[in-house]
Amino acid sequence: MTSAGRQTRRIVIAGGGTAGWMMAAAISRTLGRAVDLTVVESEAIGTIGVGESTIPPLVNFNRILGIPEPEFMRETQATFKLGILFDNWKQDGDRYFHSFGSSGKDHWSAGFQHFWLHGQTRGHQQSYDDYCLELVAGLQGKFAHLPENRMNYAYHVDATLYGRYLRKLAEAEGTTRVEGKIARVELDGESGDIAALVLEDERRIEGDFFVDCTGFRGLLIEGALHAGFEDWTHWLPNDSAIALQTKHLGPPQPYTQAIAHDAGWQWRIPLQHRMGSGIVYCSRYLSRDAALDRLVSSVGEPLIDPIYLSFKGGVRRRQWYRNCVAVGLAGGFVEPLEATTVHLIQRAVLRVIRLMPNGRVSERDAVEFNEQQLQDITQIRDFIILHYKATERRDSPFWRHCADMEIPDSLAQKIELFRETGRVFRKNEELFAENSWVQVMMGQGIMPRAYHPIAEKLGEDELDRLLSTLRDNVARTVATLPAHQAYVEQYCRVA
Ligand code: FAD
Repeated sequence: MTSAGRQTRRIVIAGGGTAGWMMAAAISRTLGRAVDLTVVESEAIGTIGVGESTIPPLVNFNRILGIPEPEFMRETQATFKLGILFDNWKQDGDRYFHSFGSSGKDHWSAGFQHFWLHGQTRGHQQSYDDYCLELVAGLQGKFAHLPENRMNYAYHVDATLYGRYLRKLAEAEGTTRVEGKIARVELDGESGDIAALVLEDERRIEGDFFVDCTGFRGLLIEGALHAGFEDWTHWLPNDSAIALQTKHLGPPQPYTQAIAHDAGWQWRIPLQHRMGSGIVYCSRYLSRDAALDRLVSSVGEPLIDPIYLSFKGGVRRRQWYRNCVAVGLAGGFVEPLEATTVHLIQRAVLRVIRLMPNGRVSERDAVEFNEQQLQDITQIRDFIILHYKATERRDSPFWRHCADMEIPDSLAQKIELFRETGRVFRKNEELFAENSWVQVMMGQGIMPRAYHPIAEKLGEDELDRLLSTLRDNVARTVATLPAHQAYVEQYCRVA
C-alpha cells in the first residue's frame, strides 16, 4: 500500500475554463471528500470564450454526474444538436449533413451503404440521407426525445454559462476555488515533480497531483515540465479564428452549420438566447481584417467585441508527465470542425478518474493515459483532415493546397478502402463510427466503386421493400416530431 496514513490527496487544477471545471465537477462528484480539490483561476486572464458545439457522449457525461437535463438546458441556454450541416465543402454551392444517427439497417457483414449502393445500380434514386432519422429531423428543424433513446443527440451550450454551472456543482461538493494569477510553478528539487503553484501575491498552492487546464499556455505541462509538442499544421493548415456572439438569423436549428469559404470556414451555433458565430481561417491566405469583414457581413452586428484567436494543430508529446496531466487545450488541439475538443476533455476527465493515483503516481498509469488519449486525438485528426483533402474545390490557393497535401497513411488507407469496396471499419473504440465516415466521405464526393456481394442476395422486390420501408419509417417518425424551438421551450419548463 503506497497510501498508508493519508486520507486525502491534494489535487490542484490550474485553470478554470471548460476543462478545469469539467474536471473539478467530475472528480468532486465521483470521489467527494476522498480528495482535497482546489481550482486556481484568474478572472483577469479569463477563458477562451468558445467551445459551444458538442457531440453525443456529453449526454452520458451529464448522466454520470447526475445532472438533470432540463436544468442543464436552462442554465446553459442550450439547444439540441443532431449533427452538422456542411456547406461549400465538396464544391461551392454544395451541401451535406453529417448526422449523429445511423442510416438504414446494417447487416453484420456489411453496412447499409452496400444495400443502398446496390439499389442505385437498380435505378433507385433516393438519397442516402433519406434513411437517417436524425438527419431528416435535423434538416426539417424538428426534435423530441424518443423512446429507447432512438434519437441520438448532443447540445449547443453557452460556454461561459456552462463553466459557471459546472463550477456551482463542484463548489457544492467541497471544491475550493482560488482566484489569482499563477506567476510560477515550483518543482521539487529531488524528484522533478511539481511541488506547488506560486501566485503573483506569493501565495503557494501545494499539491500531490496537478491538472494543467491553463489552455493553450500549458503553463505546467510545457512551461514547467517541457513535455514537448508534436506539430500537425502540415495537415491542419488553419491557424486563426475570430469568434462573435450575434443575434439569431432565424429560429434556432438543431444543428451546427460549418460553411466553407475560400480560406477556411465559418461556424454558426444556435443557442436559446443568441447565436455563436465565428470564422476559422489560414492566416497565410486571409488577413485578420478581411476575415472579420467576411464574418460580420454574413451574420450581422456582433453583441460583443470580437475574440481573436491563434492556434496550432497538434498534441503534447506527453499529456501526462510526472505528477501532472494536461487536459483541454493544454493537452493538444485539433481545429473545431467536428466539435470534438470538449469530448476529448470528457474522455481525459473520465480516464484521469479511472487512473487516479492513490499515493505515488505510477509511471504505468501515465503511459496508459498517454496511449489512450493519443489514439483518440489521432483518430479525430484523421477525420478532420478528410474534410479538407477530399474536396473537389480548386478555386483558391487554400483549397489547392488542401487537395494536394500529403495525408497520414492511416487516413489514406481508410479513404482508398472505401473508394474501392464501400467498407469502413471502426477500430479501437474510435469515436466516429462507420456511418459518420460514410456520410462525410460521400458528402465530400468519394463514391465507392463496389459494394458487398451480400446486397445482391436480395431479389428486386425484397430490395424495393427494404428500401421503401426504411425510408417510410424515417419520414413517418419525423412527421410526428415537434419543431425544435417549441420543444426546447417546453422542455426547459420541466421542473
Ligand atoms: P481556457 O478556456 O483557455 O481556460 C484556461 C484557464 O486557465 C482560464 O480559466 C484561465 O484564466 C486560466 N489561466 C491561464 N493562465 C493562468 C495563470 N497564469 N494563472 C491563473 N489562471 C490561468 N470545442 C468544442 O468541443 N466545440 C466547439 O465548438 C469548439 N469550438 C472552438 C472554436 C475555436 C476557434 C477554438 C480555438 C476552440 C474551440 N473548441 C471547441 C475548443 C474549446 O474552446 C476548448 O476545448 C474548451 O473551451 C476548453 O478550454 P480550456 O479550458 O482548455 O482553456
